[in-house]
Amino acid sequence: ASGYTLLRNPVYNKGLAFTEKERDAHYLRGLLPPAIVSQELQEKKLMHNLRQYEVPLQRYMAIMDLQVRNERLFYKLLIDNVEELLPIVYTPTVGEACQKYGCIFRHPQGLYISLKEKGKILEVLKNWPQRTIQVIVVTDGERILGLGDLGCQGMGIPVGKLSLYTALGGLRPSACLPITIDVGTNNESLLKDEFYIGLRQKRATGQEYADFLHEFMTAVKQNYGEKVLIQFEDFANHNAFELLAKYGTTHLVFNDDIQGTASVVLAGLVAALNLVGGSLTEHTFLFLGAGEAGTGIAELIALEMSKRTKTPVEECRKRIWLVDSKGLIVSSRKESLQHFKKPWAHEHEPIKDLLGAVKAIKPTVLIGSSGVGKTFTKEVVETMASCNEKPIILALSNPTSQSECTAEEAYTWTQGRAIFASGSPFDPVEFNGKIFVPGQANNAYIFPGFGLGLVISGAIRVHDDMLLAASEALAAQVTQENFEKGLIYPPFTNIRKISANIAANVAAKAYELGLATKLPRPENLVKYAESCMYTPVYRSYR
Ligand code: NAP
Ligand code: MN
Repeated sequence: ASGYTLLRNPVYNKGLAFTEKERDAHYLRGLLPPAIVSQELQEKKLMHNLRQYEVPLQRYMAIMDLQVRNERLFYKLLIDNVEELLPIVYTPTVGEACQKYGCIFRHPQGLYISLKEKGKILEVLKNWPQRTIQVIVVTDGERILGLGDLGCQGMGIPVGKLSLYTALGGLRPSACLPITIDVGTNNESLLKDEFYIGLRQKRATGQEYADFLHEFMTAVKQNYGEKVLIQFEDFANHNAFELLAKYGTTHLVFNDDIQGTASVVLAGLVAALNLVGGSLTEHTFLFLGAGEAGTGIAELIALEMSKRTKTPVEECRKRIWLVDSKGLIVSSRKESLQHFKKPWAHEHEPIKDLLGAVKAIKPTVLIGSSGVGKTFTKEVVETMASCNEKPIILALSNPTSQSECTAEEAYTWTQGRAIFASGSPFDPVEFNGKIFVPGQANNAYIFPGFGLGLVISGAIRVHDDMLLAASEALAAQVTQENFEKGLIYPPFTNIRKISANIAANVAAKAYELGLATKLPRPENLVKYAESCMYTPVYRSYR
C-alpha cells in the first residue's frame, strides 16, 4: 500500500511515531514532518489538548476523532487514563452525545440496520470490512440510559461499550462490532429535528418488530457462527426480557442492563457486607424501579441467597421489595403486572410512594433503578439513616442528571454513615472534615471481563451461574485499603487485572457447565486471559 493510504488507515496509522526505516520502506517520506516522536509523547500531547476543552462534549468529539484516526493511540489513551476518560466515552457524556448525535455525527463507527434493509440483513453484515467478529453490542435505541427513546442516535452506546470491551477487557477492536437497529422512533422532537440521522417514522412493533429482529439474529449466527457474543443494550423492557428468553437457547446472548447490572450490583453488595456486617439473607432490599435493572438485580440476589443457604429461591425473594411508578409491588396488583414483576408481588397492603415504602419495609439496602433523578429525597435518605447504622444506598440511574441523589446528599443526609455508590461517577465529598470517596456501581466493571471469559473459553451459551462467577470475582478484587475508604468497588485504574480475573472465573464456569468449546482447557485461566488481551502499543512495520 502507498504511504498515504497507511496514514489514512486508523489500524496502521502511527502519525509522527513512524520511524526513519518505516518512512523509507513505506513511501512515507515527505508525507510527515521530520520529527519522530514516541507513543508516550503523543499520548501526553493528546491529554494536554483534551484538557483544554472545557465542554465535555468537545472532549467526546476529539476522542472519537482520534479513534478513527489512530486506533492504537486511542486505546492507549483510554487504558492509561481510564478514570479520567471513562466519563467521556461512557456515562455521563455519551448520553449527551447520543442526544446530539445528528449534529456531531462525522464517521459511521458501526453498522446501521434499518427497516429499509429488511430482507437484506445478511448482505448488510457482509458490507462490514471485518469477517471475524467476537462481540456485537446491539441497541434499538428505545431506552438509552435514563434518557428514553433516542432512536438511531443510540449508536453512541454500542460504540462506547465496545471501546470499553477493548480498553477494559482486552478484546481486539477488529473483533468488535457496534450495531444499531433502526425500526423508527417515537421521540417527537427527533422526528421533527432536521439533523436527525434515523428513519423518520414511528417505531415498528408487534410482529413486524419480531420478524425484523429474527432476521437479524439469524443473519448474525449464519455470518459469524455460534460463538459470537450478542450483547443487547438499552432496549426497552417490553422487548428486552422477551428477546433474552427467546434467543438464550439458540444464541450466545447477554443483556447488559438486566444481567450485567445484576452481576455488578451483587458484587458491590457482597463487598459491602464487609463494612456493615450480616449475611446477604439477613438484609432487606428495597428497589425504586422494577424494570430491567431492578428485577434483574433482585433475581440475582435471590439466586445467590438461595445457593448460599440452600433455600428455595421463592423464599429468598421475600426479602426483596420493589417499587414501580404505581408504588410498592404487592400481591393485590398481581393480575395487572408485567410478567417480570410477578415474582416480586408479596403480601402487603398497597403503598403508593417510596417514602411510605421505606417506612413500612425498613430496608437495609436501598437501590435506585428507575431512570428518574432526585427521587432519593432528603426524607427518604434520612429515614434510611434512622433505621440503619450504615445504610447501603445505591443510586444506579444514568446519566448523572438522572441519579437518584448525589454523593454529597447521601453523605450529608446520613451524617457520613451511608455506604454509597452510583451508576455515574461523583467526585469525592468532604463532610465534617472527612473525605468520602463514592464508588461507581456500573456494569463497566463486569461486561468487558465477562465477554472476555466467554470468548476465551469459546462458550456457546450464557448461564446465570456465570453471572454469579463474574460477581464473585469482582467482589474478591476489593482490597482492605478500598474498604478503609468506604469503597465497595475497586478503583477503575486496575480494571484490566480485574477483567482478567472475571474472565477466568467466567471461563472456569463455562468449562464446568460443559458450555466451553475451546479445548483443551488452559491450565491457568487468569494467565491465559491476560495473554489473550489486546495491548495498544505500536507495532513495527518492516
Ligand atoms: P426500565 O426497564 O425502563 O425500568 C424503569 C423502572 O422504573 C420501571 O419499573 C418503571 O415503572 C420505574 N419508574 C419509572 N419512573 C418512576 C417513578 N417516577 N417512580 C417510581 N418508579 C418509576 O429501565 P432499566 O433498564 O431498568 O434502567 C433504569 C435506569 O437504570 C436507567 O437510568 C439506566 O441508565 C440505569 N442503569 C444503570 C446501570 C448501571 O450500571 N449503573 C445499568 C443498567 C441500567 P413502571 O414499570 O411502572 O413503568
Ligand atoms: Mn445500558
